[in-house]
Amino acid sequence: MPHCQNCGFRWTWSDMILVAFKGNMPCPNCRKDQYVQSGRNLFGAFLVVMPFVLLFSYLTSDFGFSWLLAITGFMFYMTLGTLAGPFFYKLSNTKKRS
Ligand SMILES: [Zn+2]
Repeated sequence: MPHCQNCGFRWTWSDMILVAFKGNMPCPNCRKDQYVQSGRNLFGAFLVVMPFVLLFSYLTSDFGFSWLLAITGFMFYMTLGTLAGPFFYKLSNTKKRS
């Protein structure tokens, strides 16, 4: 889990979920605003991987393509991305990417 770039406080998973949705949030320890980095990159990676996963499941499935399967797969990936996100995010003191 990421640490605050100002005081080194280790953020919790639920804090990271909140900051990922809001973009920035004050540190629970020192109250300095921290910004999320790399979150968009992870989201982008999922969007890139998704079509290949769907294509693969289409080619390997005997039932053929179904929208229900596609939507379920998409929801699964979004949920997985959200749940796994905090492990890949980094905190920053500024909004700018370094
Ligand atoms: Zn802090």
